[in-house]
Amino acid sequence: MKIALIAHDKKKDSIVEFTIAYKTILEKHTLYATGTTGQRIMDATGLEITRFRSGPLGGDQQIGAMIANNDMDMVIFFRDPLTAQPHEPDISALMRLSDVYQVPLATNMGTAEVLLKGLEKGLIDFRLLADRRLK
Ligand code: PGA
Repeated sequence: MKIALIAHDKKKDSIVEFTIAYKTILEKHTLYATGTTGQRIMDATGLEITRFRSGPLGGDQQIGAMIANNDMDMVIFFRDPLTAQPHEPDISALMRLSDVYQVPLATNMGTAEVLLKGLEKGLIDFRLLADRRLK
């Protein structure tokens, strides 16, 4: 499965902690991330990650493009709901496309844990999601 990892600045420590805790699951999948988030995770975990541009420079849009191409299976996005982001339109677009294409999207650690555990146990029917996706 292809999984995208993104975290706003104040959530980067959390996503690093999360990826350390779930490394054994994450390492079985193909990982993508926005620039800074990806670098932080790679440095801390040694996981192999394809990094896009930093979020404010278009990284969220690059991940959005993969979603629109039916080429992303899951998005883990630790949003900071308390800080204004200069690239808010890109963030909204990414979340909107996740909904358009039925891509499981976690916007906080609690949901991300459920998604990864569900993925590990085979509880997510990706074929059903794909069938319900726009073609
Ligand atoms: P970053 O981008 O990982 O490059 O910081 C994430 C974001 O702010 O959307």
